[in-house]
Amino acid sequence: MAPRRKKIYEGKAKILFEGPEPGTLVQYFKDDATAFNAQKKDVIEGKGVLNNRLSEFFMNGLTNVGVPTHFIKRLNMREQLIRQVEVVPLEVIVRNFAAGSMAKRLGLEEGTPLPRPIVEYSYKNDELGDPLVPEEYIIAFGWANQQDLDDILALALRVNDFLAGVFYGVGIKLIDFKIEIGRVWEGDFMRLIVADEISPDSCRLWDMKTGAHLDKDVFRRDLGSLTDAYSEVAKRLGVLPEQGTPEKPTLIN
Ligand code: UDP
Repeated sequence: MAPRRKKIYEGKAKILFEGPEPGTLVQYFKDDATAFNAQKKDVIEGKGVLNNRLSEFFMNGLTNVGVPTHFIKRLNMREQLIRQVEVVPLEVIVRNFAAGSMAKRLGLEEGTPLPRPIVEYSYKNDELGDPLVPEEYIIAFGWANQQDLDDILALALRVNDFLAGVFYGVGIKLIDFKIEIGRVWEGDFMRLIVADEISPDSCRLWDMKTGAHLDKDVFRRDLGSLTDAYSEVAKRLGVLPEQGTPEKPTLIN
């Protein structure tokens, strides 16, 4: 067996390994699912394979409409080659309809349309449970400056328009989602690009006809099989063959 690459970081759903060239990393998708700041945990057979494929699909799509991302190429069923970035310690959340923590905070029924897309930021810190933070904090603590925030807002809205359109095309409503942003340097010039992953782990996706949840809420709220929900998303997007299942890897690699 080839020697294993050096592990750089292990998160809840992914592991980062040293890449083959400087400035690259290998992102490995695990089957672990966590919710409520890892108070609820399980291993969902095949989730990592699906999210690797789905994230590849969305990141490639973004690249093709001119939105920069860290994605370089998929290597195998669970791994993708990515650009190494300096992660901005924020979770950038975009909402089109009220749900989750926003619905709770404002006493809104889930699914209530919002007057316009709303972008909010949480400080990435597991110990603190990723608290919602205003721009004032972000700038004062130096996590990003005003110019960065302007760029991040523009990126987030472009990702929203792209994803909402792609999902609309396959009968899925994009309720909300989370992205992470990384910094890369090209000479003296710094650019902000989309990093991490885009998958049903980090989006709320409702079937347009039935309202069925096709995202991680299936796990959070015990609504059925998570792999069935993610496979449905993958099939509709043409990422998985109609009959493909994550248990039959030969069909999806
Ligand atoms: N989200 C995420 N990771 C987080 C927090 C939120 O991917 O650590 C996603 C979540 O899946 C949803 C959106 O961001 O699509 C908004 O989540 P919300 O703030 O409503 O929090 P939740 O209800 O998931 O705790």
